[in-house]
Amino acid sequence: MADALASQFAHHPHPAPTSAALRDAAIADPGFGKVFSDHMVSIEYDADKGGWHSPQVGPRTPIMLDPAASVLHYSQEIFEGMKAYKQADDTLALFRPTANAARFNASATRMAMPHLPEDMFVEAVRQLVHIDRDWFPTVEGGSLYLRPFMFATEAFLGVRPATQYKFLVIASPAGNYFKSGAPAVSIWISDYSRAAPGGTGAAKTGGNYAASLVPTAEAFAKGHDQVLFLDAVEHKWVEELGGMNLFFVFDDGTMITPPLTGTILPGITRDSLLHLAREEGLTVREEPYSIDQWRSDAASGRLVETMACGTAAVVTAVGHVAGPDGDFTIGSGGPGQLTMKLREQLVGIQRGAIPDTHGWVMNL
Ligand code: PMP
Repeated sequence: MADALASQFAHHPHPAPTSAALRDAAIADPGFGKVFSDHMVSIEYDADKGGWHSPQVGPRTPIMLDPAASVLHYSQEIFEGMKAYKQADDTLALFRPTANAARFNASATRMAMPHLPEDMFVEAVRQLVHIDRDWFPTVEGGSLYLRPFMFATEAFLGVRPATQYKFLVIASPAGNYFKSGAPAVSIWISDYSRAAPGGTGAAKTGGNYAASLVPTAEAFAKGHDQVLFLDAVEHKWVEELGGMNLFFVFDDGTMITPPLTGTILPGITRDSLLHLAREEGLTVREEPYSIDQWRSDAASGRLVETMACGTAAVVTAVGHVAGPDGDFTIGSGGPGQLTMKLREQLVGIQRGAIPDTHGWVMNL
């Protein structure tokens, strides 16, 4: 079955791939999102030709687009972010790729785009990892970051869902997100809103990120690492960071995270931590948490840790929070015990050092 799917992809290996010397230099210190592998996977969609067709693995090249392509005008675009890991025994693995495939289709639904069958999504990613397996970073903690995405290519200026799309997967070797391990991050409470009820906050679509650039730049300019968004209606409830979900840990062994009410991204790391924390014996709840409560719980010491989580940085501590109403510090301002423990567990599972009892790891 998997082989039947694999055989649908035409293979056109790069005629002049990057030299081993240049590639080895790139994967020794790749940073994040700056260096790309030699190939990409593409699949075309045309409603008039029966849907998805022409899957292929080919050289990574610029894309030709008609100037009227609707993505350039109305932003019909979605993407995913996931990683392939080299395991302790040198084999390659993906972490919960079907969860990315499912979220991709949930995003597609919201953006009036066609679904890509989940097995096709996973096969496309698998094929790219396989052909570019020499692009894994050699630096400690490195991984191959994968970016599947889809956009509307139809040349048409009317405002309606396009009938033609392109799905691509590209790969980028990524170093350890934080060079010095996992320090605590400092965050800035934005006055801007990221997503409103009924909007597109739960979809991984480019527009959400375009809207976050000004608030993020403001956070950076004020010396912080990340931007925090509150809800758009009352500007009271904590939602998420620019690219990470949040968890709050209390001194009585409870942990809470904002619920998935449509305005935040349903993070796959978030979902994994919900499982791991419950297995650790914590009482975990998905419920709203206000910025005022956060501030007073940090001051009283009832709140012992705050974690931020996502594919890029895995799990990291939030040490300081700042906003127009002043600053506060969580615990000692550094990573707490649970943050370190959950991070170690998740990284251990992803890299094959800890047995995968959840069926999360897909060996390639
Ligand atoms: N929130 C936002 C806005 C994000 O962009 C991301 C990164 N995809 C996350 C949360 C974390 O999601 P995940 O754990 O699936 O990477």
